[in-house]
Amino acid sequence: MKFQLSEVGRKLTSRSGILELMDDLGRAMSEHPEMRMMGGGNPARIPGVEAVWRERMHQVMNDGDRFERMLAHYDVPQGQPQFIRSLVRHLNDRFGWGLSERNVAITNGSQTAYFLLFNLLGGRDAGGNPRRILMPLCPEYIGYADQGLQPDVFSSCRPRIENLGAHRFKYRVDFDRLTVGDDIAAICVSRPTNPTGNVLTDEEIRRLAALADAHDIPLIIDNAYGAPFPGIVFSDVEPVWNPDIILSLSLSKLGLPGVRTGILVAREDVIDAVAAANAIGSLANGNLGQTLVEPLLAGGDITGLCRDVIRPFYEERALRAQAWVEEFFDDDLDYHVHVCEGALFLWLWFRDLPVTTRTLYERLKTRDVLVVPGSYFFYGLDEPWQHSRECIRVNYALNPDSVREGLAILADEVRRLYRQSPLPCP
Ligand code: PLP
Repeated sequence: MKFQLSEVGRKLTSRSGILELMDDLGRAMSEHPEMRMMGGGNPARIPGVEAVWRERMHQVMNDGDRFERMLAHYDVPQGQPQFIRSLVRHLNDRFGWGLSERNVAITNGSQTAYFLLFNLLGGRDAGGNPRRILMPLCPEYIGYADQGLQPDVFSSCRPRIENLGAHRFKYRVDFDRLTVGDDIAAICVSRPTNPTGNVLTDEEIRRLAALADAHDIPLIIDNAYGAPFPGIVFSDVEPVWNPDIILSLSLSKLGLPGVRTGILVAREDVIDAVAAANAIGSLANGNLGQTLVEPLLAGGDITGLCRDVIRPFYEERALRAQAWVEEFFDDDLDYHVHVCEGALFLWLWFRDLPVTTRTLYERLKTRDVLVVPGSYFFYGLDEPWQHSRECIRVNYALNPDSVREGLAILADEVRRLYRQSPLPCP
């Protein structure tokens, strides 16, 4: 048999950064259960949240033939009408966005939503001209990096680094550096940002929306960690939407990554395009997640769940992890922690570290600690950047004992690396 890959086939089977890394993390975990897992993006298991989903499952099972109806039907490709209705009402009540049911599409995870969106918008246009997605604040989510089916779909912009004290910093969109050429089809940000825990300010979002508007292109905002759900945001920012914004949400960080449910809120023509592409790629979406979550949207209980259980859980974990970093890292080391304003991650920068963080990752693995080397998150830049080899991402949300021990080992390893070779001249 000749299994000869097409150009798209080659792209989809290439040893992409994310595939290699996920394989490596998965293998390390399965072969070494003692590993301290601080890689990956899995949300935490929160007992108060798991109890809600278990109770919902009981209700579905005990509600006549609800269970059978859920299993036995393909939904319409746009998503479950009842779920969309309740979501639209919830978003309109909370934010006054004036949405109709034609403004929402469901996908099998928001990862799939991005695959569809980036390939609907990016790549060669009908005239053969390249169209790209602009990431205005690099580093950006690793999961986008290999999603373009055509080459060079992403173009990224370095941020401005704002120092906030000896060991804290924050990335800001560098509007002086950011240019939107004719080849740009959309601007895209995650907010809160994976990997850094950054939350773009309302002013940054307003300026990005104005820039997108001036070029007549959409601004895509990935709200996988944001409000109204799961609400893993520690600063007071409101989500924004208008017909020129494509906003994505996900059920994953509500503790439901297994149900694979993503949501897009956008103008009707965008929704129609995504629903059409959805039908081609997967006929319909899985409906378990929509069935479990719908009554919490209809009754408004999702607000309390996020505000009183999910957000405090992550905020407490984030504060503890930052306190451990301060405890374990010597003050004279040139380490810097990005402000943690949301999501599940601490982003650490070791300025002038004598090795790349890929090497640091390997060294940590031999000591049963898993992190994610930061270089994967810097794609689409037009020139090399030393900073991209000096950062790591740590998931602070999993087992606290492992996180504490892992951070202590990380500090020890970094100390050894800095001390074993002289620091370069500034
Ligand atoms: N966007 C961001 C920023 C993420 O961190 C993730 C997953 O971790 C996704 C999208 C994809 O999530 P899912 O496909 O589970 O909805």
